[in-house]
Amino acid sequence: MKKRMEQALRFAAVTMVTAGLALSGCASRSEAAEAKGPAAEIEAKQTAKATEEAAKSAGETSEAETAEAAEKTAASETAGKAEQTTAADTAAEGGKSARKEGEIGLDPSWKYAANSKINSGKAVLYKASANRKGKVICVNAGHGTSGGEKVKTLSHPDGSAKLVTGTNAAGAVSSKAISAGTTFQDGTSEAKVTLATAKILKKKLLAEGYDVLMIRESDDVQLDNIARTVLANNAADCHIALHWDSTASDKGAFYMGVPEGNYRKMEPVASHWQEHEKLGKALIEGLREKGVKIWSNEKIDNDLTQTSYSTVPSMDIELGDTASDHSEKSLEKIADGLVAGVNKFYGK
Ligand SMILES: [Zn+2]
Repeated sequence: MKKRMEQALRFAAVTMVTAGLALSGCASRSEAAEAKGPAAEIEAKQTAKATEEAAKSAGETSEAETAEAAEKTAASETAGKAEQTTAADTAAEGGKSARKEGEIGLDPSWKYAANSKINSGKAVLYKASANRKGKVICVNAGHGTSGGEKVKTLSHPDGSAKLVTGTNAAGAVSSKAISAGTTFQDGTSEAKVTLATAKILKKKLLAEGYDVLMIRESDDVQLDNIARTVLANNAADCHIALHWDSTASDKGAFYMGVPEGNYRKMEPVASHWQEHEKLGKALIEGLREKGVKIWSNEKIDNDLTQTSYSTVPSMDIELGDTASDHSEKSLEKIADGLVAGVNKFYGK
């Protein structure tokens, strides 16, 4: 366990340097220097060098050196870990978790990116500073893309018609790029509540050791449902979209399941629907464990755009409806439930 802590501290130092926060990274530098063993010493020295270079700050040369030093440290970190962790952990650290903190835009070369129509916005990756789990959780605050209702995107990547009526009707080949969402009984927009929940969830996931890819952090981000999904596919290990349903019965939380039949034979659904369902069930169990009201049916099946384009475990979780309590206390409980669900999903 001590070794893991040391690794986490070293990685935190690397992260700070990488993010250009070297000046505030002084504490981490001394913590990293305390790490035992020759490999750790080299890493600590490299981190120290990077910190000093950044402290000098000015000029492109020193920035380039800082980046180089940070890269060396990161490489050394990966090499050291390979001996002690499982292949899966190493793959995770070498994959989505290895990305640098900061803004991530939609890369047009990513699979399905060309199907997105609204994608000038940026998601932001945050990295946990301790107890790192090597997993990036995409937190998608549902809705909040102005103009998104007027634009249409393909419901399914293969151009086939929608099978189940939801926001968009069955039979539709194209769907709203992103809908505006519903309104609570007290007049609060769903988009405001999903955003407030996402911010609480982000803090709790980071504290738990998960990295977080935040799709939206203000009232508007210009990213449609396909852009959000493709960002999650490429920069996160799983995708959780936060929503409240449009009914007014305070029926409780449920997840959007994957419809049976031909939909489960269509790629990328065919290769991923089981992990979507597993994530949905884990989130419901986590919410239940923390005392969040759960709807007796537990799920509604729908071929959402999100599900249709997801290549990582992905779930639209409906956390209640327009009659549900959305006080901060309630949202805190919901966020605790979602963290518990993520832990269940990853067996942590
Ligand atoms: Zn919604």
